Amino acid sequence: MDRLRATDITYLKGVGPTRAKILGEELGIKTLYDLLYHFPSHYIDRSQFYAITSLRSDMTMVQIKGRFVSLNTLGEGARTRLVGLFTDGLSTMEVVWFKRIKAIREQIRIGNPYVIFGKPAEYNGRWSMVHPEIDSPEDVESTIGLRGVYPLTEKLRNRGITSRTLFSLVRNIFSLHLKNVDDPIPADLRGRLRLIGKRDALLAIHNPRDNDQLIKARERLKFEELFYLQLNILSYSRRRSVRFGGHTFTKIGHYFNSFYSQCLPFELTGAQKRVIREIRRDMNSGRQMNRLLQGDVGSGKTLVALMCMLIALDNGCQACLMAPTEILATQHFETISQLAARIGVNVKLLTGSTPKKSRDLIHSQLTDGSLHILIGTHAVIEDNVRFARLGFVVIDEQHRFGVAQRARLWKKNNVPPHILVMTATPIPRTLAMTLYGDLDVSVIDELPPGRKPVTTLLRMEENRLDVYRSIARQLKQGRQVYIVYPLIKENEKVDLKSLEDGYEQICETFRDFRVAYVHGKMKPAEKDLQMTRFATHQADILVATTVIEVGVNVPNATIMVIENAERFGLSQLHQLRGRVGRGDGQSYCILMSRPEISGPTRKRLSIMTSTTDGFVVAEADLRLRGPGDIEGTMQSGMSLSLNIANIATDGRLIQLARNEAENILENEPTLSAHDNSLLCR
Ligand code: ADP
Ligand code: MG
Repeated sequence: MDRLRATDITYLKGVGPTRAKILGEELGIKTLYDLLYHFPSHYIDRSQFYAITSLRSDMTMVQIKGRFVSLNTLGEGARTRLVGLFTDGLSTMEVVWFKRIKAIREQIRIGNPYVIFGKPAEYNGRWSMVHPEIDSPEDVESTIGLRGVYPLTEKLRNRGITSRTLFSLVRNIFSLHLKNVDDPIPADLRGRLRLIGKRDALLAIHNPRDNDQLIKARERLKFEELFYLQLNILSYSRRRSVRFGGHTFTKIGHYFNSFYSQCLPFELTGAQKRVIREIRRDMNSGRQMNRLLQGDVGSGKTLVALMCMLIALDNGCQACLMAPTEILATQHFETISQLAARIGVNVKLLTGSTPKKSRDLIHSQLTDGSLHILIGTHAVIEDNVRFARLGFVVIDEQHRFGVAQRARLWKKNNVPPHILVMTATPIPRTLAMTLYGDLDVSVIDELPPGRKPVTTLLRMEENRLDVYRSIARQLKQGRQVYIVYPLIKENEKVDLKSLEDGYEQICETFRDFRVAYVHGKMKPAEKDLQMTRFATHQADILVATTVIEVGVNVPNATIMVIENAERFGLSQLHQLRGRVGRGDGQSYCILMSRPEISGPTRKRLSIMTSTTDGFVVAEADLRLRGPGDIEGTMQSGMSLSLNIANIATDGRLIQLARNEAENILENEPTLSAHDNSLLCR
């Protein structure tokens, strides 16, 4: 394999400097390995030919057998084109070229049989095909099985490089270099999982005999890819946990116990208890904990985090909680200092706007150890913030803090603190395993009892008055309401306009009520002011863009209206919905949309109206949109550039690969045994 990686594509028969250059530029193919791993995106059954009369405009690629009747160069200058009249014996169609006219003219003989292959288009009742591939019938009929259609670019097609060209180059690799392809998956594993050999898989992926063989080839190549990914992730986290020892928290003492007996106003849910046990086991293991805590909004993550911080205090350490925004940090501070007030825990808040005097006090109390819990924003990782003995760090909402920032916290002490990352963005297990491969995952999958699920409704423009009436009803009962508008970069101006119009309309409609207004373009101070007005009930309605997505806790708010809901992703809608249903009142999430939305969009939105389970929503979102979005916002430090496997749809294989990788590392931690030696690549 290494030979193939190291061999420049120029050395392949059929590739000269010009082709090598354009393959590199257009497809990133530089070595034999790259070409071998440039897989077809789909396959055409080459035993099937179409009659021109049976063409439909939704067909992607078809092949037609026939003859050219005429061939004429028309137009001039940039508009020069070659137009051929092609007949299948029953009817005729046009075949058009704009490029390589001279070469094509020389290649085609009028009256000889050809097979043309391309996408048919209909114009004024007449079929045509632009830049088709042209083969002789013998060539086509001697190709057995399915023929791959390779991802190509316009530029390559213009230079006459077709799927057929790529396939013949791949065939050259097979005939000369297949002996250099070795199989990295140990034979016993292959046998146990019934995976076909690597050479067979590569041959079959480029030219499968039939669909069954293609499926086997895909399975094998996907498994290999995922297996290495998991192996890398797992061995990375093993190395790390060996490198970093950790505080060992053996004691449960005064703080935890008195909180549990005196301050806890309710019974913990089963899920909360289980997660606390998981965290305690980590903190007692002698190794640094790196754990991701997932749970829907309101599932009681913050409480779990607090109780774990108290365990750190019981073991003579300090704790720190970091939130992505000032508002969130402030809310955490209020909740936690209130909860912990009675047991003598010293809690302080540090943000960018903490006055110098308080800041100085915090600094000195941190270094003399009398400050127990520090809550804050990014301000807590500044270099001048030093702890006497930091033992436990909670990071709220992973995606705002990257790996590098986590590392800065570790550096604040000789022994790195245990780290708990909390997120309310549920991630399907298979994705978490990959994205957060270096974190262990705990899930709170149970809401505290008595919580009323939010009722979600899909409403169209024509129902707007009804929606406003429902809003008015809640407002009159003293409740608060969110109204959210989309704001995406591409057409920011239009969006801002609709937000402003919406704001005016709301002020007009609800004259007796106070309306706050926030969007991302505002100055932070103004934004905070508006948010605070709403949070403290000096405003009844908050008109906003998604800036409120992560954040505020206003239990008195009972309606969330989302305008142009079709423009949001499901996970985002779920986050927004989580802003309501936090108090004792029945809450509603109203998705406003246009009646003309498409079937798939309606189906997508109906997932929201049919479930309140964040994991179900996340799975659906992942299936519909792929992992791109989640990947973009979360920094795992691991690249997910998969060639053939798909994080969204290959859950079963990911799990399988994970198990097998764990097995191997369990038995051969250094991967040194003979059969595994190929794994260390
Ligand atoms: P999250 O951080 O997951 O959004 P919180 O920890 O903020 O959730 O909890 C949400 C609300 O539910 C808080 O008011 C909290 O006091 C309450 N709560 C947490 N755990 C329980 C429980 N076991 N029983 C009842 N209420 C709970
Ligand atoms: Mg919370």
